[in-house]
Amino acid sequence: MQIAARSEVVEAAAQLARCQRLLVLTGAGSSADAGVPTFRGEGGLWNDRRVEELASPEGFANDRDGVWTWYRERRLQVASCQPHPGQRALALLQRHLTQPNQVLMATTNEDDLLDRAGVKGVVHLHGSLFDTQCSAECGWIARDDADNALSFLPCPECGAPSRPGSVWYGETVPRSGLSKIAAFDPDGCLVVGLSCLVQPVAGIPPELVNHGCPVVEINPSETPISPVVLTSIRSTAKHVLPILVDLLTSHTVRDQTRRLT
Ligand SMILES: [Zn+2]
Repeated sequence: MQIAARSEVVEAAAQLARCQRLLVLTGAGSSADAGVPTFRGEGGLWNDRRVEELASPEGFANDRDGVWTWYRERRLQVASCQPHPGQRALALLQRHLTQPNQVLMATTNEDDLLDRAGVKGVVHLHGSLFDTQCSAECGWIARDDADNALSFLPCPECGAPSRPGSVWYGETVPRSGLSKIAAFDPDGCLVVGLSCLVQPVAGIPPELVNHGCPVVEINPSETPISPVVLTSIRSTAKHVLPILVDLLTSHTVRDQTRRLT
């Protein structure tokens, strides 16, 4: 990382250290650091098929076996990835802040890397890659991370085909995750590797900015929220987060911030 960016990290830590309820929002860029393919942007193809066609109710209706084959491949890919130092640092942040429930981690990623890094209570806003659920929405959903056994069977409750537990293109983001964020009532936000292109999640950081809350972004590329946030750090999660978390959990930084506010 460049020296100029390091001073931005120090500034970001000073701003976020004031938060009593810090929301951390992570997106595809964060998991890409761990080797998980993002599918958005360049290419976005699997076996010459557009990802938007596969990850959709129409795609599933047209070719259930094809969609499941893709998802089983992705489960295998993610299972072979390990959390990177930035994701492990987020687990340390949660563990070392002085008050319990001071940090809420929410992600649009379907993978389980934050969970495996040791982060507790991750809110999976766009569903989970390792869940299998009922395609007829009877409410049945189960963890299917051992051998994909459930993915080969119909829903045990109503007999409809089972489907991946991801939120697909054209589907509404479940209220449950958004409600958890609203109930947490964040007073600051750290946005990590989130493209901020997909609503309603993309609207959360600007709304916090409107309420006068500090919002810091870590992303190697400019995003739609870059012009409005307090600090945009142009780097990757795995490089910045260990330094930022080190500062945020430092008694010196927190004591200094307390004296200034
Ligand atoms: Zn069912």
